[in-house]
Amino acid sequence: MDVIKIHPRGYCYGVVDAITMAKRVAQDPNIPRPIYVLGQIVHNRHTVLELESFGIRTLDGSSRLELLDQVPEGSTVIFTAHGISPAVKTRAQERHLTFFDATCPDVTKTHTLIEEKIRQGYSIIYIGTKGHPEPEGAMGEAPQGRAFLVTHVQDVGNVPFDTKTPLAIVTQTTLSQWDTQSIIEALLVKYPQAEVHNEICLATQLRQEAAVQTAKDVDMVVVVGDRRSNNSNRLVEVVEQIAHKPSIRVESVDDLRPEWFEGVTTVGVTAGSSTPSRITREVIQRLETLDQRGD
Ligand code: SF4
Repeated sequence: MDVIKIHPRGYCYGVVDAITMAKRVAQDPNIPRPIYVLGQIVHNRHTVLELESFGIRTLDGSSRLELLDQVPEGSTVIFTAHGISPAVKTRAQERHLTFFDATCPDVTKTHTLIEEKIRQGYSIIYIGTKGHPEPEGAMGEAPQGRAFLVTHVQDVGNVPFDTKTPLAIVTQTTLSQWDTQSIIEALLVKYPQAEVHNEICLATQLRQEAAVQTAKDVDMVVVVGDRRSNNSNRLVEVVEQIAHKPSIRVESVDDLRPEWFEGVTTVGVTAGSSTPSRITREVIQRLETLDQRGD
């Protein structure tokens, strides 16, 4: 069995910068303790555990605003690469917390776009994953009733805006470009007046395109990534739906089952942009060992 390492894969610049910031904060003795991260810094438990070893505590839950209330007075909080709504920043200031913002520049760009469009009188249709922190943060730029979340094509019928409202369609950074296209097409049938702003980031796009391209030449693709990682789950989807090849997501080497590779002569390996290289390397080494043993 040949193991093809797909490039690019794994950590993106936004994730690297966020982790670097968190470690620098933890190493600065002048910064108030304890130090918290508001949500998982990236959706990967190995990375969360690594930050714990630096003394950084992760608060996990659905709403960033609710999580912020768990941060005790006088401590420090780090906002994740996924971005936060202006309400979270205001609350942190009101509570006199020390805070550091690790929002990825690509996510900040989407926030600025939404803020601008709202100022110009537009309402926002945001294509994103329900329950994910990025839509929560980005849609928080819009006043109540001026932004609506669409996750699937089936949600288009529920969008409440009328056909005279100026509308901007904006996407989350980590979606599948192919899925997004079908949702945008359905929205434009309902709202021909809408402007489209595709905000899928370059890191996501390049990883998806490389996975689809390589998938054509292999029997199956293994994606290394956490179950909560949006971009890892999208990699599995694009391999299955666009390249029409089987794909499986594993969180670590421990998830690999030799029987999955019976009859497989070539396997591609990629990883979501929140997956540490060490975890992917272990998966690759294990797959190569399976090969040597003829398993
Ligand atoms: S996936 Fe894209 S938007 Fe998210 S942190 Fe990485 S570069 Fe930034």
